[in-house]
Amino acid sequence: MSSVLVSKVYGEAPTFSVELWPPRSEKAQHRLEVALEALRLIGPDFVSITYGAGGSTRDRTHALVAELVNQGWTIPMAHLTCAAHSKDELESILRTYQASGVTDILALRGDPPLDAVAFLPKGELTYASELVTLAKNVGNFGVAVAAHPEGHPESLSQRSDRIHLKHKLDLADFAITQFYFSHDVFSRFREDMDRLGVEKPIIPGVMAPTSWATLRKMSSLTGTTVPTALAKLFDSFEDNPEEMRKIGVEIAVDLCTRALEEGVPGVHIYSMNSAESTHEIYDALRPFFS
Ligand SMILES: Cc1cc2nc3c(=O)[nH]c(=O)nc-3n(C[C@H](O)[C@H](O)[C@H](O)COP(=O)(O)OP(=O)(O)OC[C@H]3O[C@@H](n4cnc5c(N)ncnc54)[C@H](O)[C@@H]3O)c2cc1C
Repeated sequence: MSSVLVSKVYGEAPTFSVELWPPRSEKAQHRLEVALEALRLIGPDFVSITYGAGGSTRDRTHALVAELVNQGWTIPMAHLTCAAHSKDELESILRTYQASGVTDILALRGDPPLDAVAFLPKGELTYASELVTLAKNVGNFGVAVAAHPEGHPESLSQRSDRIHLKHKLDLADFAITQFYFSHDVFSRFREDMDRLGVEKPIIPGVMAPTSWATLRKMSSLTGTTVPTALAKLFDSFEDNPEEMRKIGVEIAVDLCTRALEEGVPGVHIYSMNSAESTHEIYDALRPFFS
């Protein structure tokens, strides 16, 4: 196994992991600190830290990942995107991670930030699969990749996206999915990957939405369907963020439970840096992890 994190994902017990964003403001820094305190009590198998495509969070992502390596209570996985970077830049970022003791990378192409005009220059590497190879060559990192249960929005067809994912997974150690709101979507995707002969672990990525406005933007960027009944429910909580958060937790617990009952290798929570939601989700799922 290329890393301890990868051996956990291949282990018997399901993993519990969480995505965090590096903070952009003092308020966001405080929210992150509260989330880290809560996570320390839970002890997730790994924590992944997002990266602003093109390098907008390069230093902040590195600082948070390096801090988590030093603290040692979880294993950090650094997201890295190849869009808008040269190969030399990517190599240099990977070497910096290696020198900081980082062992695991989530290799991605990258998307423009939610609040930007939707344009992201191409990088020297076109696809995430090329970044997987680079990360393996530079530091034999444990490497995860993104999977898109509904198909990536830019792909020619869902089938072609699944085939590209199969090839990407031949090079990588495991995949984490984009978020989804219907368990049937995940099940159909899993069956398609089984039919293509994919045996590498695929961890469902489950979001606990905390803001309908943010979720609307994210679903349109990622091509995630928000079922009409759910959208209506979220509409009714537009002015009540706490109710929205609670419903988000219920949805996440339900999706995780159904996936764990089917024997997935773990669940990855898009936590939106919410300590409360992550804690509530973990508490509800605790029987699966003890
Ligand atoms: C778990 C997770 C975490 C994420 N974290 C971040 C983050 O931190 N920062 C960020 O900016 N974005 C992040 N994203 C979003 C991701 O960058 C976008 O979904 C992006 O648009 C695609 O990334 P990818 O790695 O799947 O790309 P790729 O695997 O390169 O695929 C991109 C498109 O190219 C197609 N394709 C792939 N290979 C080939 C080929 N050989 N020939 C032709 N077509 C091909 C695919 O079908 C797809 O349509 C994350 C997504 C997930 C699921």
